[in-house]
Amino acid sequence: MEAETENFIFWGTRGGLPAGEVSSSKYGLATSCVQLALSDRHIIFDAGSGISLFGKQIDQNDRKPIDILIGHYHYDHLIGLPFCAPLFSGHHNVRIFLPELDGGKGINAIDKLISPPLFPISKEMFSETVSFHSFVPGNTLKLDKICSVETSLFPHPGQNCGFKLKKFNKNTLCYISDMESNSKNTLDKVIEFSKVGTHLIIDSSYTREELKSRKGWGHLCLDDIEIIASAIPEIQIFLYHHDIFKSDSQLENDSYSITSNYPNVRLAKQFDKIQLS
Ligand SMILES: [Zn+2]
Repeated sequence: MEAETENFIFWGTRGGLPAGEVSSSKYGLATSCVQLALSDRHIIFDAGSGISLFGKQIDQNDRKPIDILIGHYHYDHLIGLPFCAPLFSGHHNVRIFLPELDGGKGINAIDKLISPPLFPISKEMFSETVSFHSFVPGNTLKLDKICSVETSLFPHPGQNCGFKLKKFNKNTLCYISDMESNSKNTLDKVIEFSKVGTHLIIDSSYTREELKSRKGWGHLCLDDIEIIASAIPEIQIFLYHHDIFKSDSQLENDSYSITSNYPNVRLAKQFDKIQLS
């Protein structure tokens, strides 16, 4: 693979709803979506409204396969799917990987959300180059001969699947959007999962104070991230799944302590392109 072409891009960094005010523009308004651009394929984590922006800018001559990994089925992680142009163009072999969560098949959630009366069209309108693949979290997905993705469940209402994309170039990217810490063991599991990585993108929706009234909503707070960051100081950590009601300055103020004390931690910013060495 050619190292210089490899990077990942945040197309959507918010959780809940693609909404907000102009004062929130720096970190974006779109919901969860990260693109890992490899020399031979695009790997997409989650299909929040941000995936529409990925689809809009893709080069007309690009024919690389696209693998979309869905972590869970809350609508903020799916709503962009029927707005993603490559699913209609027929120019790409698109595989959409769906974890079985709480014993249920993800395709049922897709069928529910993308069909009348919730949406004007159904998934049958996608190009025939689009396919869906169910998997059991805990299993490893082999995307090709080189690229494999470890998967693991994390606590969230309805469960959430985290991903670890191993050994592309020298990098290992972990993506864990949406999880709540229900015991110290939960954070230990995150540390264990991501400690061999180079980059970790992780839910950090709230401050400790905010979390007090939002127990059970399924999210981490910045104090949780501090525990993780101190345990794996060599991993670059991106604070992700920002609350939609927070302005840019609020996000920066809330995370000021952790980003100044831990140089390995920063806020995920929409359109930020992280070059991989
Ligand atoms: Zn969720």
